[in-house]
Amino acid sequence: MDRKETIHYHIRWAQIPLLDFESFNTRVQAEAAAQVLARPGETHTIEEQDDGCQRCRDAKSERDAQVYRELE
Ligand SMILES: [Zn+2]
Repeated sequence: MDRKETIHYHIRWAQIPLLDFESFNTRVQAEAAAQVLARPGETHTIEEQDDGCQRCRDAKSERDAQVYRELE
């Protein structure tokens, strides 16, 4: 948890504008998940990110918002 950089991977789909917020610890895991999720003809790339990842920040704020809603 104290590592300055936390390398992880995201799937970016070429055909759909939706970003996949799920993160993977290894490129192999991300690739395997992408193979399962991909529809025929869809292409994707695996993005390597560190702890400055904007996508994870967005996902975290979304999760926090959900928690607050559940507390109300
Ligand atoms: Zn991320």
